[in-house]
Amino acid sequence: MARFIFITGGVVSSLGKGLCSAALGALLQARGFKVRLRKLDPYLNVDPGTMSPYQHGEVYVTDDGAETDLDLGHYERFTGVPARKSDNVTTGQIYSNVLARERRGEYLGATVQVIPHVTDAIKAFVLGDLADEDFVICEIGGTVGDIEGLPFLEAIRQLGNELGRDRSLFLHCTLIPYIAAAGELKTKPTQHSVKELQSVGIKPDILVCRSEREIPKEERRKIGLFCNVREEAVIPALDVRSIYAVPRAYHEEGLDDEVCRHFGLEVGQPGLENWDRIMGRVDEPDGEVNIGVIGKYVSLLDAYKSLAESLTHGGIANNVKVKVSWLDSEIFEQEGTIQQLEGVHGILVPGGFGERGAEGKIAAARFAREHQVPYFGICFGMQMAVIEAARNLAALPHAGSTEFGSPADPVVGLMTEWSRGNQVERRNSQSDLGGTMRLGAYPCVLSAGSRVREIYQSDSITERHRHRYEVNINYKERLEQAGMLFSGLSPDGELPEIVELPSHPWFVGVQFHPELKSRPFDPHPLFTSFVAAAVEQSRLV
Ligand code: GLN
Repeated sequence: MARFIFITGGVVSSLGKGLCSAALGALLQARGFKVRLRKLDPYLNVDPGTMSPYQHGEVYVTDDGAETDLDLGHYERFTGVPARKSDNVTTGQIYSNVLARERRGEYLGATVQVIPHVTDAIKAFVLGDLADEDFVICEIGGTVGDIEGLPFLEAIRQLGNELGRDRSLFLHCTLIPYIAAAGELKTKPTQHSVKELQSVGIKPDILVCRSEREIPKEERRKIGLFCNVREEAVIPALDVRSIYAVPRAYHEEGLDDEVCRHFGLEVGQPGLENWDRIMGRVDEPDGEVNIGVIGKYVSLLDAYKSLAESLTHGGIANNVKVKVSWLDSEIFEQEGTIQQLEGVHGILVPGGFGERGAEGKIAAARFAREHQVPYFGICFGMQMAVIEAARNLAALPHAGSTEFGSPADPVVGLMTEWSRGNQVERRNSQSDLGGTMRLGAYPCVLSAGSRVREIYQSDSITERHRHRYEVNINYKERLEQAGMLFSGLSPDGELPEIVELPSHPWFVGVQFHPELKSRPFDPHPLFTSFVAAAVEQSRLV
């Protein structure tokens, strides 16, 4: 029977609760347990898919087509367990389900209330869709004290009571700030945050205390005393040099020992050799490459979380450090700016939406093609590379995407239907914005003799999608004659999934998001190959 670990956060947001959950998952896994990680998000949006990447960071897409919070990406990267739809829920989803049930009369005329109806729906979500997991780690988004979070806290309080102490644990992440003027670490905010948690009936069993300085033993004792937690359960969590150093750091501070002690589990030490090996590579790379990422949301790097991690993984695979220059594509719409790309060893145009900056991405693709610089186009980045090739190789000067109007040659167009298993999914331009994209894992067939076939060492793959437009298959012949190979297609041959330029050192565009499946121990082959091409390029320039 699964044990549940509930993770809350206090004092401030952005404490790295998601990483803490992911690292704890990795540590328990390294002790031989089967883990599952989940996130409860208190905001009212029905899904994170419609939220601005500026506010919310990346939308992480699962194999089963859910648009979820970016923390699920950390969970997957740290544990290798593919996240599912049933691993992330928002207040908006909970309420829309409760209200739909009320409309159907399923509450038999009862007064529908936050307690018990909403809290019951939350509890059902937490307990649902489990198999033989040993641990379910359940992170509650937001900060203790937020009005929105209350139903979730009430639900996990009840669960703690119902499951009992031997099947539940409350872990609270807090901050111990250093006040330079006083030259001291301050424990008061943590005391207040724990008090807040206790006021809703939750007593934390473990405190993970983020701090930029060493927390002296005396302070640790004091936190334990005032917060009603054993001294050994006060875990200092100092900033570390890489997120992949977090599991080892938490282990050294006794986090997983404390969890096992709580549940009365007598188990050996975790095997962390894999993590140490990765850190060895991060700490001692053999050279460096510079990748230019030409995007739109470059002022908030959380918008490209998985991408940044995948490039790091590609670096780990090639034993080099990958330095990323995040560049706003709009820059390249001005005369004389494209030369800024001269020093980079690889150009990557990631996913994106809307017209703003699109011409800059097209210019970057052209620069990469003409200057033989490795180019990796992901989703929107593939579509822009196809428009560029259509205009400048296939003599279609008015080629464009219907995402930005009605071009004379719609080489990229709105997709209105595609098949999933035996079903055909249909959309039209009037469909709702939320959840109307082609989402989740779809198979793709790679053509013999192509670069991608060589990279994947396989002739069929599945990758995760999130897009509304697609490259227009009707232009395949024309573009192939001009030198752009359609090397990956959906099994029915209708949807172009991958294009490449065989005459170029490394030019690949993919309609899917490979960055969602890359992991530190298992770097995605496309990123490994792209970084390897950048290493080659760095020897030339
Ligand atoms: N805007 C494009 C589409 O909807 C690309 C989406 C993406 O890059 N994820 O097809």
